[in-house]
Amino acid sequence: MDCVFCQIVAGKIPSTTLYQDEEVLAFWDINPMAPTHILIIPKKHIPSLANITDDESPLIGRMAKVANRLAKEAGVSESGYRLVVSSGEDGGQVVPHLHMHLLGGRKLSARPC
Ligand code: AMP
Ligand code: ZN
Repeated sequence: MDCVFCQIVAGKIPSTTLYQDEEVLAFWDINPMAPTHILIIPKKHIPSLANITDDESPLIGRMAKVANRLAKEAGVSESGYRLVVSSGEDGGQVVPHLHMHLLGGRKLSARPC
């Protein structure tokens, strides 16, 4: 298993768990781009948004729900935040395990990139 996020799920690479349930795990990004930068991932290895099956797609809603909860806990729910899911090379995805970035705590560009 050489997927870094699968290794985090398995506890083989340390992370700062902020939330977990049977299907979803959230932890601080190791290289934060904003004061609040949290990653929300499915525990199951899904390579990217482009690979998600119809059966798996409700996971995206679960991940967004977790993101909203963590945004409140981080104190950025009112000030605002952004959820980002990069898919594939042109989308800028580096880690090939589906993940959602929760970014907040500073004024982000009005443009998505
Ligand atoms: P992406 O460019 O969308 O694939 O984002 C991958 C993110 O994973 C980057 O923001 C990295 O900083 C983050 N990352 C990579 N390895 C780790 C790790 N071991 N713990 C926490 N975050 C990580
Ligand atoms: Zn994985």
